[in-house]
Amino acid sequence: MKQVSVLGATGSIGDSTLAVIRKHLDQFKIHSLSAHTNVKKIVKLTLEFLPEYVVITDEVAYVSVKSELENCQTKVVYGTACLDQLVSESVVDLVVAGIVGNAGMPSVLAAVAAGKTLLLANKEAIVSAGHLVMSLAAKSGAKIIPLDSEHNAIYQCLGQQYQVGVRPADVNSITLTASGGPFWQKPENEFLHITPEQAVAHPKWDMGAKISVDSATLMNKGLEIIEAHWLFNMPNNDINVLVHPQSIIHSMVNFIDGSVLAQMGNPDMQIPISYGLGVDKRLKNDANFLNLLEIGSLTFVAADCQKFKCLQLARDAISLGGIAPAILNAANEVTVDAFLNRRIGFNQIAEYNDRMLNQIDIEAVESMEQLLQLDQQVRTQTNTLIKQKTNHQS
Ligand code: NDP
Ligand code: MG
Repeated sequence: MKQVSVLGATGSIGDSTLAVIRKHLDQFKIHSLSAHTNVKKIVKLTLEFLPEYVVITDEVAYVSVKSELENCQTKVVYGTACLDQLVSESVVDLVVAGIVGNAGMPSVLAAVAAGKTLLLANKEAIVSAGHLVMSLAAKSGAKIIPLDSEHNAIYQCLGQQYQVGVRPADVNSITLTASGGPFWQKPENEFLHITPEQAVAHPKWDMGAKISVDSATLMNKGLEIIEAHWLFNMPNNDINVLVHPQSIIHSMVNFIDGSVLAQMGNPDMQIPISYGLGVDKRLKNDANFLNLLEIGSLTFVAADCQKFKCLQLARDAISLGGIAPAILNAANEVTVDAFLNRRIGFNQIAEYNDRMLNQIDIEAVESMEQLLQLDQQVRTQTNTLIKQKTNHQS
């Protein structure tokens, strides 16, 4: 039995992870679950899986969960420090990093420092702290299996050759595919009128609100370029992006002899998560087989970095190096939130991200504490910028 800690159990990645685990209860035991605010769902999940621990990171939610689970044998604990402690426990075999945003970064670092097998969905953590994640993994020997479908596809294509943070010698380049999100064919002058409801309605994937908006701006693909840069130790120029609206090919590896290996499947996160949970052994997942005859054709077009500026900003952040990706990520978390709360327009997400990426002038940071401080500082400045602009306009 493998003991699993599922961080962000109440989210979309949490749903898919627990759906896979339900099909294989003879192989997995839930050691711990985490939630932030969703009291109803975490109480239900706890009563179903009876984990050793439940961690709640929002104080108000914690009080409610604690009282609702008063008679349950599961220990209910509060705060992010508990997350870091639990993922490091020796009984834990697998940690699923499914928290959204940089809030998940400390627990990702804790799992890596403890040498765990980390199933990584939380891309913001590796975007912000890539350097730290890689140096900790090199020291601890932690295995990082990407769950993000593109990186999981590359991971599958590389097979035995994959070693976290090491570029395999016979790889020429990699190609990340992108669905293009809901607006890839929309004229840029209509971006101003896009509503949060339209932006979160992804044509191919059912995901949380933040990543859905990131997919619509193509910031998600930008964050994924940075994620691939760290995981596979590839420079900007060797990471290609192709819009592939059917979302069947999840990514490809282009080898030095001209061979290309691609991984295909229906757009369903249970597939990459199954491969992660199986730790390279395939788990039976009979719900969702691919029917290429029904799909008929697979098409590809170039990604438009002019129209989707966030994609270019991510490439700029890699070129700038150091803390630039962390700045871009923090600014983007604020601008996406502001868009979802109707404080700024869709087109302004890229505009403010660009301003922040090019305005902050901070020396390199070394530790997690410094990175968290930087993250906070960028968030404050981005919010101030938005307020100033909004006040000026009204
Ligand atoms: P959701 O919004 O659906 O879920 C987010 C989870 O994180 C919830 O469990 C939420 O708790 C928890 N959470 C939110 N804020 C905090 C916080 N401040 N501290 C601790 N926990 C918090 O997101 P997704 O599941 O869609 O995405 C999770 C991560 O996986 C993201 O980084 C995303 O980019 C990545 N990813 C997601 C994919 C998908 O298909 N959804 C695909 C590839 C990557 P609660 O709900 O209780 O408030
Ligand atoms: Mg992805």
